[in-house]
Amino acid sequence: MNNLEEIAWLVNRCADCELSRGRNKAVPGEGSPQADLMFIGEGPGYHEDRLGRPFVGPAGQFLDDLLMSIGLKRADVFIANMVKCRPPQNRDPLPAEMSACSKYLDRQIELIDPKLIITLGRFSLTRFFPGETITRARGKVREKEGRWIYPIMHPAAALHREENRSTIVSDFKEIPRILERLDRPSSPLMEDQPVEPQKATAPQAQQLSLFSS
Ligand code: SF4
Repeated sequence: MNNLEEIAWLVNRCADCELSRGRNKAVPGEGSPQADLMFIGEGPGYHEDRLGRPFVGPAGQFLDDLLMSIGLKRADVFIANMVKCRPPQNRDPLPAEMSACSKYLDRQIELIDPKLIITLGRFSLTRFFPGETITRARGKVREKEGRWIYPIMHPAAALHREENRSTIVSDFKEIPRILERLDRPSSPLMEDQPVEPQKATAPQAQQLSLFSS
């Protein structure tokens, strides 16, 4: 898979797991190939399956509002999901389905090489930090596999519980500050922290204490 277009071509024809049977359209992901920010959600829902685009339902409208709140638009970032086809009745994706689909997401991450990956919800969180809960992990920047990861709650959580909305909004507003810190390796506030992500050989994930809560 040499580029994002090739990945999308393959995804649209993929039958590597059971989710291919029920999909209307696969949802490869979309955005800038040079994005600094890459968002990873769970999987397509009803609206996404209809249009073949990620985050176009009510949760997607909230994501657009969140992006606008930090001066960005959809075309500035890249948005992808753990699985590219809609699970029936919006059930959770199964481990075997996420495993079958991971080759596409892994390659998208490699090709885009974002400065910061923002995981949306628990499934993309556990891709990087297995066994962790979103409640404990959200709002903390950490390094994993040579990349900086910032987990936040899934935008859909705000649709189900109003109290989640303010948490997501405040976590989102940290993103410009995080990017700024990552761009400024000599920041005195980070003098004891590694600025370049350590590679996978690091004994454990690094965490930027500045952003920890
Ligand atoms: S979810 Fe992923 S692995 Fe499964 S059929 Fe769709 S593209 Fe292929």
